[in-house]
Amino acid sequence: MTGDLSRHDLLSQGRAVLDWIAEYLEHPERYPVLSDMKPGEVRDSLPSMPPDRAEPLEEILEDFREKILPGITHWNHPSFFAYFATSSSVPGILAEMLSATLDVKAMLWRTSPAATELEQLVTDWLRQMLGLGDGWFGMTTDTASMSSMLALAAAREARPELAIRERGMAGRTDLPRLRVYASEHAHSSIDKAALALGLGLDNVVHIAADDEFRMRPDALGAAIAADRQRGYLPMACVATVGTTSTSSIDPVPAIAEICRGESVWLHVDGAYGGVLAIVPENRYLLDGVDAGADSLVVNPHKWLFTPFDCSVLYVRRPEILKRAFSLVPEYLVTREQDSVVNYMDYGVQLGRRFRALKLWMVIRAFGVEGLIERLREHRSIAQALAGWIEGAPDWELAAPVPFSLVCFRYAPRGLSAAEQDRRNEQIMHEVNASGGMFISHTKLSGRFTLRLSIGNIRTEEGHVAAAWNRLQAAAKSAAVTRPAE
Ligand code: PLP
Repeated sequence: MTGDLSRHDLLSQGRAVLDWIAEYLEHPERYPVLSDMKPGEVRDSLPSMPPDRAEPLEEILEDFREKILPGITHWNHPSFFAYFATSSSVPGILAEMLSATLDVKAMLWRTSPAATELEQLVTDWLRQMLGLGDGWFGMTTDTASMSSMLALAAAREARPELAIRERGMAGRTDLPRLRVYASEHAHSSIDKAALALGLGLDNVVHIAADDEFRMRPDALGAAIAADRQRGYLPMACVATVGTTSTSSIDPVPAIAEICRGESVWLHVDGAYGGVLAIVPENRYLLDGVDAGADSLVVNPHKWLFTPFDCSVLYVRRPEILKRAFSLVPEYLVTREQDSVVNYMDYGVQLGRRFRALKLWMVIRAFGVEGLIERLREHRSIAQALAGWIEGAPDWELAAPVPFSLVCFRYAPRGLSAAEQDRRNEQIMHEVNASGGMFISHTKLSGRFTLRLSIGNIRTEEGHVAAAWNRLQAAAKSAAVTRPAE
């Protein structure tokens, strides 16, 4: 038999899948947050050869439940607090089903006018929600890593005299070293973008931060001046609104002023924190972006309840991004190409997912007010946790809490820094092994620091209170008892 499975298969198994999704979203706590599988265990439980014959969907779904699920770390669990906690949501999940059904490649306007126009519309909705002015061109990408790489490619193309699009960089003695500046707390995706673009890791200059982990504008100015003296070309600077380790906020207005004076492209990485600017009292987070940034990334797939993947890149001068990437072979020429946006012109990918649909459905189904309320709630739960930590004698906050990420550590007096580090690591492993919660860590000024991030749409204060109890119990448990003092 050829062709697709039948309508009967779709409806009967589709209903079973929907039932499973509904049950899962209602009771994710039935699963340990962090998978306890050993490396290789999932793979070993499955046939190593593909099936010659068709298998019934029932059996495949049975294996999904029995063999795949145990190897899942449940990002949609309300007690997933690691990295940056994220989640999908019902409208996003439904949109993904529709998007998979349509299987659109949003590359040329004509390959689905609605996909292109909805992407233009919904990125503009988000721009308005963020309180940004007109004049930004928005596009979706898979990740902030990709968005930032495209932004840095545009920053390079903003120097057409270098002719890098045509001549590349390798083997050229006429090119100065192109420099990118980012805080020592910037995300590694900036370094990776430099790798991918052939700029070289050595040309990413990590600027010192102050004692609240924010890039120091004076250090940025000094680094640029030193580079100019050496004959290097300051190309781009990345300011972060919500850094990964601590969610610190680089001073964008001051950085923008330096960049403007030096003709340096300013990219703002608001992958996690940028979306909080939809909350009126947090609009200040994007101060300086309208007036001084050339590009901005925010990730609805991080803290706007949109299923992965959905990053949004904004650029002020889309013609530069287009100049960096547009390449139209004969088979992709269209009559209307000069009057429409063909999103393939603005990045590496040809085929692009129809991501706008899920962001559109998420924004409509919750409404801007509903989204604002949910972010406020997360922020206030984070404040509550910060208060409990501050009030607990043997614990300390390790960084300010401007978003919904709390950095802290168990810090009983009388223990050396090294011993405290060891205890905190033990606490983290113990609570994560419980299956009831999942947190991660970072190092701040060389010290092991616990990170608890709140961003899942189903997380309530009770989940965080339970996590706090578990952390305190782990600190007291036999494995972490204090040595005789
Ligand atoms: N930028 C910041 C500040 C981040 O925290 C992260 C990930 O946590 C990224 C960029 C990379 O995000 P993505 O996974 O979308 O590439």
